[in-house]
Amino acid sequence: MSQRIILSSVLVCIISIRSRVAFTVFVLPFIYLGCQPGGSRLNVPSSYPMKYTVGEVDPRFGISRERFLTLVREAETKWEESAGTSFFEYDPTSNFFVNLTFDERQERTLEARQAKATLNDRESSIRSLMAEYNLAGGEQSRLKTRYEAELAAFKERLDRHNTAVGDWNRKGGAPPEEFAKLREEEKRIHEARLALDKTTIDLNEAVSRQNALAEKVNSLADQFNLDVSLYNGRFVESREFEQGLYDGKGITVYQFTEESDLRVALMHEFGHALGFEHVETPEAIMHRRLEKQDMQNPALTDDDLRLLKEKFMN
Ligand SMILES: [Zn+2]
Repeated sequence: MSQRIILSSVLVCIISIRSRVAFTVFVLPFIYLGCQPGGSRLNVPSSYPMKYTVGEVDPRFGISRERFLTLVREAETKWEESAGTSFFEYDPTSNFFVNLTFDERQERTLEARQAKATLNDRESSIRSLMAEYNLAGGEQSRLKTRYEAELAAFKERLDRHNTAVGDWNRKGGAPPEEFAKLREEEKRIHEARLALDKTTIDLNEAVSRQNALAEKVNSLADQFNLDVSLYNGRFVESREFEQGLYDGKGITVYQFTEESDLRVALMHEFGHALGFEHVETPEAIMHRRLEKQDMQNPALTDDDLRLLKEKFMN
């Protein structure tokens, strides 16, 4: 009695994974500091200390008069510390006003702050989805390793069995005892095949889950990147304006993002009030652009000190 047993091999399809996630880097704004209008050098008082008071402090800036005055004092003191003399003095009766005037510049700053907070939230969501994607990737590769091991074992077993069946068939058939063993092995191979199918399904499901996450992340990231470039176009590239102004009769600041840059802007305008023009060093307080200065610990650079020396220390 002969018995030929043929088992088919198993085909598994693995879906490819698209994992590109791109982020655009935020660009920080450049802000120009107000120039001293021509002729204002003549308005610089000849007697020191110059008296000043606080004028308009628009409540939309969200800073109290007291806090503003503190920052004004800190700003003017930076010049005085370096010179060892008093250039400015707070006097509520003075008619030299230091103002915080609200217009479309600060309005845009507030809009930009809101827009950036929204973008930051969305970036966090994308990053946590990416973490989920990476976890799913771990699960997927664990299942893939298991699948490959099971598949290799299955193939080996199947080959061994088919060879045995072939051998017996060539001898004209297997005796009943061998035939029963082969039948038993055929049953176990069938069970192994079912287990392998189950692993294949699990693996393909894990791949699908990961792909779905990749698609979600990619689509959110595409939209996010588009919104970042819109943000940059709206609030960064097109945003070059005068942040503050000294006009010989007072100082007005129109825009600030944080107290630190407000303080530096005030230092800059007090520099104009001392009669100083702009200098070339980007880190200098008297540079026309508020960008490279140390905002957290603002200090006069050599270029700023040179201005003081030229004017007061001859
Ligand atoms: Zn300036």
